[in-house]
Amino acid sequence: MPTEQYTILGAGISGLSASYHLGHDKCKIYEANSYAGGHAYTHKVDSVCWDEGPHISFTKNEYVKKLFEESVGGQYSEFPVNVSNYYFGDYIPHPAQSNLSFLKEPLRTQCYEQMLASGTLNQQDNISSSYLDWLKSSFGEVFTQNLPERYTKKYWTVGSAELAVDWLGERVYRPDLEVVENGYRGIQPEKTHYINKVRYPKAGGFISFLNKIKINANIEYSSTVKSINLEKKQILFSDNRVVSFNKLINTLPLPQFIKMSGAPFNVLEAASNLDCTSLLLVNIVASNRLKKDFHWMYVYDDAMYATRITSMNSLTDDTLSATPEGIQVEIYESNFKPFKKSHSEIANYVKVELQKMNIIDSCLSVHTNYIKNANIIFNHRRRENQDIVLGWLAGYGLDREADDLEPMSKWDHLNQPSLNKKMGNLILAGRFGQWKYFWSDDCILRGLEIGIVGK
Ligand SMILES: Cc1cc2nc3c(=O)[nH]c(=O)nc-3n(C[C@H](O)[C@H](O)[C@H](O)COP(=O)(O)OP(=O)(O)OC[C@H]3O[C@@H](n4cnc5c(N)ncnc54)[C@H](O)[C@@H]3O)c2cc1C
Repeated sequence: MPTEQYTILGAGISGLSASYHLGHDKCKIYEANSYAGGHAYTHKVDSVCWDEGPHISFTKNEYVKKLFEESVGGQYSEFPVNVSNYYFGDYIPHPAQSNLSFLKEPLRTQCYEQMLASGTLNQQDNISSSYLDWLKSSFGEVFTQNLPERYTKKYWTVGSAELAVDWLGERVYRPDLEVVENGYRGIQPEKTHYINKVRYPKAGGFISFLNKIKINANIEYSSTVKSINLEKKQILFSDNRVVSFNKLINTLPLPQFIKMSGAPFNVLEAASNLDCTSLLLVNIVASNRLKKDFHWMYVYDDAMYATRITSMNSLTDDTLSATPEGIQVEIYESNFKPFKKSHSEIANYVKVELQKMNIIDSCLSVHTNYIKNANIIFNHRRRENQDIVLGWLAGYGLDREADDLEPMSKWDHLNQPSLNKKMGNLILAGRFGQWKYFWSDDCILRGLEIGIVGK
């Protein structure tokens, strides 16, 4: 039997945080990569720090803020974000719904009139309706079809009719009518983006925020899990090593975990119905300073591959230094909308798009990075299938949690003197392990929760 109390699969934020909060001496982490950090890792290429998709910390949680702050010895930048939208040649401040004056006529007035007529901004989310219904009743048909629907198809790879609304929370900004009116008549007196101040390490990229939870973690790298025997409590690795476990914490993507665990057909089928997008990152080093001023920008044009464009240098507050100008461009695919071109062909198109948008003149280098699991698609079939999967795992020591089908978790209970929660011998953690819409702070807090319950 293993000497460690906990075996953790995956050394991303969730695995590291669970280990840190339980006590690294009680845990052994197995990680496929030769480094820790998972999706929060930063790759240094061509002298630029490239995150695996743009990462900034916008947490409001004081505990996480302090942990990140200590990880970088206070060496982080905190700044208000400057977010833009590109809409068929026009640059519109974000969010577009409160900056209608930047749209051309007649679209500008059509959007405005329908938003006023809808009068239902700030309506309650209704779990039975689709995101499309929600958008139309919030913003009207014209704005919906021209802006969010276009972006949804690029970012989520499905139309908004396919999406549920349980993932929305505060993610889509719903301005009140006065803000819409101001934005229609002229420039907003202040920014209305829902993310206000963000934090980013001064050096080393986002991964530096994990320094504290990573130190002394007991990680076995280059250990790719091949299969798991939940009955015998054994893990088989791709190099044919077999290890036994007492308590297992899984942070690997739930569908992958189910596939490796010898589940029956109906459970395998349910797991295969949990949908996720994949992300192609085109990382470009430009020969010039960016000709537009933004931290990141959303691109609505359907004919363009670029979906979101981020200025890497602006995150490090490094605009005056002589480091090369790094631009990260995101392009998404899924089973519903697979790429029809190769990664290098897409990268070539993206270079031309950036020039057409007048963001860069030319580039010094380009490389791509493919992220298999990017965003969980919160579509209508997700809950039912996730319920089947979790129900099966309950037979192997998973204690079902009241909110385990909710896309988001609330963390207020972590401030209570005692936690009224039980966790069995199988614990799920993280964005893909729990199949939730988790940010980095949620992953840290899930680890804290496991630490409190498990100690
Ligand atoms: C594109 C993108 C942008 C994001 N932007 C932000 C942001 O701006 N701010 C923010 O707070 N959060 C952001 N996030 C969310 C954040 O990155 C995630 O919530 C977090 O990194 C998830 O951590 P995790 O440990 O749960 O999962 P992961 O990072 O996926 O960790 C799982 C680990 O398991 C390992 N693994 C997988 N398969 C195996 C196997 N078979 N055997 C062994 N090991 C295996 C992986 O290598 C990985 O290290 C973003 C996420 C994405 C994808």
